Amino acid sequence: MTDPQNTTQNTTPKTSAPSTPVTVLGLGLMGKALAAALLAAGHPTTVWNRTPGKAGDLVAKGAVAADSVADALAASPLIVVCLSDATAVRATLAPHRDALAGRTLVNLTSGTSEEARDLATLTGDYLDGAIMAIPDVIGRPEAFLLFSGAPEAFEQHRDTLSRLGSATFFGTDPGLASLYDVALLGVMWGTLNAFLHGAALLGAAEVDAATFAPFANQWVSSVTGFVSAYADQIDRGAYPAEDATLETHLATMKYLVRESAAAGIDTDWPARVQALTERAIEAGHAGTSYASLIEVFRGKA
Ligand code: NAP
Repeated sequence: MTDPQNTTQNTTPKTSAPSTPVTVLGLGLMGKALAAALLAAGHPTTVWNRTPGKAGDLVAKGAVAADSVADALAASPLIVVCLSDATAVRATLAPHRDALAGRTLVNLTSGTSEEARDLATLTGDYLDGAIMAIPDVIGRPEAFLLFSGAPEAFEQHRDTLSRLGSATFFGTDPGLASLYDVALLGVMWGTLNAFLHGAALLGAAEVDAATFAPFANQWVSSVTGFVSAYADQIDRGAYPAEDATLETHLATMKYLVRESAAAGIDTDWPARVQALTERAIEAGHAGTSYASLIEVFRGKA
């Protein structure tokens, strides 16, 4: 397994010169933020967007707006692409394989790992990236980006890429960054769904969401401790109930389902959580920790 190489510096470049010219293809919400952060860091920045007229603010800050993809590619050794999806990236870049040769392509468009591996065939110097941030925080320390693909390309450009947020490299499989991306988004949706369900439940008792939020945040912070402990159990393949058994979890889940039904709010979310736990118990994991649900997710229970 490749150790992620973590690089968090946004201010002290170590490898590529701060003046590396960069081209950004795609000026949607995210593409504009990427270009603005590169400009702010002093990189000569060329931008292109399918629909013209979106580069005004960036040009006012010093960007050059290219009229064509060919002109945009010719302008820089480092090409960052951030479009709606992989189909758009392929449609935009496949006709320009020759121009991509000798340049590094960094694809920050979301997609599946298979799509990333397919796009990696566009050029030898390909990095796939996942942006774990919203446009407003690009270039700030709380933004983090995940990369995989050509190691030399990451090494050469990691300081430039670190201008966007802290940058971690996961190795040569171009699909791995996308896989981390969807796994982390799953963590986000799971957490947000639980918060929203809880807010609906307390809302039925006339507790507003802003009152609930600090307690939810404090509890999420406690849960991060469970994540680390369970990761250790998962990697050992042993799930001792050092904190609580699955049966204890199941009993309290049923209270959540009953409270939801009594309040007239949707029971789908807690009922699914209950069903997952029942499957783990039926598969022989009674008396183990909550981490044994990994076997249900693996399709083994
Ligand atoms: P967006 O605002 O909808 O922008 C989409 C961009 O894609 C526009 O520049 C659009 O050009 C371009 N595009 C779409 N289809 C195209 C095609 N066939 N050919 C050429 N260009 C095409 O989306 P966004 O928020 O910037 O997101 C871009 C990517 O970043 C997505 O993959 C998204 O998942 C990822 N991302 C976004 C966020 C976020 O918070 N926004 C966070 C992490 C990752 P036109 O102007 O011509 O339509």
